[in-house]
Amino acid sequence: NLSDRLGNVFDRLRGRGALNEADVREAMREIRVALLEADVALPVARRFIDAVTEKAIGQDVLRSVTPGQQVVKIVHDELVEMLGGAAEDGGSAQAEGLNLNARPPVVVMMVGLQGSGKTTTTAKLAKYIREKHGKKALMASLDVARPAAQEQLAVLGTQVDVATLPILQGQQPVDIARRALESARLQNIDVLLLDTAGRLHVDQALMEEMKAVAGVSAPTEVLLVVDALTGQDAVNVAQSFSGEVPLTGVILTRMDGDARGGAALSMRHVTGKPIKFAGTGEKLDALEAFHPGRVADRILGMGDVVSLVERAAQTIKEEDAEALARRMAKGQFDLNDLRMQLKQMQNMGGIGMLAGMLPGMKKAKAAMAQSGVDDKVLVHMDAVISSMTPKERARPELMNARRKKRVAAGAGLDVQDVNKLLKMHQEMARAMKQIRKMGGFKGLAAAFG
Ligand code: GDP
Ligand code: MG
Repeated sequence: NLSDRLGNVFDRLRGRGALNEADVREAMREIRVALLEADVALPVARRFIDAVTEKAIGQDVLRSVTPGQQVVKIVHDELVEMLGGAAEDGGSAQAEGLNLNARPPVVVMMVGLQGSGKTTTTAKLAKYIREKHGKKALMASLDVARPAAQEQLAVLGTQVDVATLPILQGQQPVDIARRALESARLQNIDVLLLDTAGRLHVDQALMEEMKAVAGVSAPTEVLLVVDALTGQDAVNVAQSFSGEVPLTGVILTRMDGDARGGAALSMRHVTGKPIKFAGTGEKLDALEAFHPGRVADRILGMGDVVSLVERAAQTIKEEDAEALARRMAKGQFDLNDLRMQLKQMQNMGGIGMLAGMLPGMKKAKAAMAQSGVDDKVLVHMDAVISSMTPKERARPELMNARRKKRVAAGAGLDVQDVNKLLKMHQEMARAMKQIRKMGGFKGLAAAFG
């Protein structure tokens, strides 16, 4: 699958010390084939490769100490971009939630082909809205084409404990939509979900019906439900719908199946709209908010912790990173290591970057926050460590009152600053021990990835 194919390319890239432009272009050719075989639309794959190539053959990347890892990072970031864009902070991109802030009843209209999972997803979403948003929902089926379609939604409604509009035979979709709105207003419903009829193929009659329903119900969200398993077809369906109805988002169903990933990767480009949720099973709680960052990590088979380690490896010299990793594996972590960590923190964008990335760092971070540490203080800490003797750096327990006073004077700071640093070192050393107990960074990645 896509993950395996990319993994092979990456292993080869990482395995090499130096990279030249030809190596990168060769790797990009392989990635391009992998993307196309995963059903990514051709223009999307082409754009992706162009963007990655341009960034990867930049002089800085190829001349850096870890060119392979940098290329992998570029591919990762571009994947996130392709899946819907990264958050401002450059961390893993957040899911784009539903817009439920309009005046109630907020109308959420579900559209898509027959069998894509619309009715099931309507019920899943109603449950999600009730549980996660604490809002009162009402569901109505506008599917008069398929016998028993309205009953299907009613049955699901009882399962998720969300009301459904009473069924009146002989009404047309637009009339049902009007009645549903009226009923929602009378019952003070927050969110009205409209499950519409599908067709086996996109046809004009269906589009006209969708437009008419949207016309009378003024939906805040128009969500296209597509089956991820249908790959390139899903993309074509999305293209047809997005030209006709004002979509606000996409829900990919059957992501639990053997989806090749292509549908997810092309969807943003083709519709210009975010994937908001992923259906991951037949059960009614099998619905997940779609996080581009996490999905990209999953496709590349790496967790947050792994990317943190990689980022660290890029910003400090490779030998330093290896030495630190070796020492940490032995449970050693002295002030020299702390100094290196502080340098890394500065290079990696400060303390904020590290927040939450390493579970074991949470306590250390809290200790830092408590003692009023911010990025400027990192510089102070470096000054404190620089004023120590090599022996003191290796054995911080030597630091008695007399030594502290000397170091503080040397750094032009107070004894208090020295104490803060020592406390922070203790917390971090403890965190490192914990990481080691959990099987090192690899174990961490497995536990949290
Ligand atoms: P509709 O015709 O678009 O309304 O599709 P339905 O909601 O009736 O779903 C068709 C079938 O797909 C049902 O058997 C669902 O249980 C199944 N289904 C829907 N979503 C998912 C999903 O995310 N994963 C899996 N495995 N099955 C799903
Ligand atoms: Mg249906």
